[in-house]
Amino acid sequence: MSALGDEIKRMIAENGPMTVERFMEFALGHPDLGYYMGRDPFGAAGDFTTAPEISQMFGELIGLWAAEVWASMGSPSPVRLIEFGPGRGTLMSDALRAARIVPSFRAALDVWMIETSPTLAAIQHQALLNGGVAVSWALRLKEAPDGPAIVIANEFLDALPIRQFLREGGQWRERLVRIGADGELAFGVSKTPEPYIQANAPEGEVLEACPAGHRFMFELGARLVKQGGAALVIDYGHAATGFGDTLQALRAHRFVTPLAEPGECDLTAHVDFAAMARSASAAGAAVYGPIPQGDFLRAIGIDLRTRALAERASPERAAEFEAARDRLAGKGENEMGALFKAMAVADRNRPSPPGFQPIAARQT
Ligand code: SAH
Repeated sequence: MSALGDEIKRMIAENGPMTVERFMEFALGHPDLGYYMGRDPFGAAGDFTTAPEISQMFGELIGLWAAEVWASMGSPSPVRLIEFGPGRGTLMSDALRAARIVPSFRAALDVWMIETSPTLAAIQHQALLNGGVAVSWALRLKEAPDGPAIVIANEFLDALPIRQFLREGGQWRERLVRIGADGELAFGVSKTPEPYIQANAPEGEVLEACPAGHRFMFELGARLVKQGGAALVIDYGHAATGFGDTLQALRAHRFVTPLAEPGECDLTAHVDFAAMARSASAAGAAVYGPIPQGDFLRAIGIDLRTRALAERASPERAAEFEAARDRLAGKGENEMGALFKAMAVADRNRPSPPGFQPIAARQT
């Protein structure tokens, strides 16, 4: 068992079983032993790979997306460009480089990185040191100064802790983490049912909720409505709310059991986009999508960008760009184009953001 696993067992022995939400919060965010706190988890040598780490095209296209959104906002200066959970800073670095073709946009930028991990914040700092744009770091959205904003969050929502409820004896009970007969961490359920949950489901079904995600979407929607701007949220997950246990742990690019080594493996859950959209709408914001990541990237020009890069490259490099495009936008197995979704949130005073259909058209 990992050091954090022992710590969690000690807490359970002292205070009783903890919710899955609390477990996930510790596993990822414990100040000393949490997964993101002391390591760089990305890439071939790490535990998982994300879209910006697969290809520079991902961040570049998002940089140009942001420039176009900015123009639709009336080109405000300054404009906050805020990224949540920026990992290695690769997306932002690629976005700022691509934005060089719109110098007035670059000149207006005030970049904010919202990051909990000091280790990753330091890596981001290195990545952006010579980018020629002022960058600040913060722990929450409130710390970014008021004013119009463009917000990016790639694979951020899947890292927020979820609650799980289990259908047992015709009632929902919260799933807990306890110490099993063998002395290891094991799942259990709360003795007290949750009568306020209306959903009906077969025995053994799991229902998930992400309170931190709801808080994030509501706060984001409220800020954009009040101060103007748009956000792009990309993650893996489902468009419609459903049942099922989606908690998963990854270590060295392989799935492992979520309870086995807290703090040593990445722990995520599928994003319920319908639920996230409800919170942004409740704050008064317009919500676009979700649409498959592949459709989004094609609509904002990944094919053109691939061709442009491939034409200037050696045959091997050209093939790499094409393979990266397929991995990001393809909809087959082991490709991200269908499983990952893109959703935009904006104030109601602008046309639909690039890549997204106008809301009225989407509903027909
Ligand atoms: N966007 C990056 C990294 C995704 S991994 C990429 O696509 O490569 C998740 C990121 O979110 C990490 O940087 C992690 O440290 C950060 N993170 C997790 N929980 C957070 C929270 N509550 N607030 C801010 N950042 C958080």
